[in-house]
Amino acid sequence: MDKTLVPKQKKCGDCPPASRTRQAGPPLVVPRRSYTPTRPSCIECCEKHLGAAYVLLTEAREGYACRLRAIGHLFEAEDESQEWPDLHAAIHEARRAYQASGAMPDWAAIEALVGQVRTAQ
Ligand SMILES: [Zn+2]
Repeated sequence: MDKTLVPKQKKCGDCPPASRTRQAGPPLVVPRRSYTPTRPSCIECCEKHLGAAYVLLTEAREGYACRLRAIGHLFEAEDESQEWPDLHAAIHEARRAYQASGAMPDWAAIEALVGQVRTAQ
């Protein structure tokens, strides 16, 4: 298996520390109507995982290990985007569609949503 293409899972320098959610002040993990996000969202990490999934899904790689890694990265990107409902939903749907039918994610649409989050920050 090619180990060089998928970076080790590390937090980026800007990633909000999970411990801050337990301190005073505005929480980074904001409870929602139906659920509480499981971790602070980070657009850098979200992009990193989308990029890894993109590489795995577009460079003619094959095999089950590749599929699992791509799904894993899409899931991580989903997890890192809980603060932005549109982006979160788009990644969630892309992962589900890929798992169900092998459909390629709409990378342009996802990229546009990432761009919206970036310009809003
Ligand atoms: Zn991060």
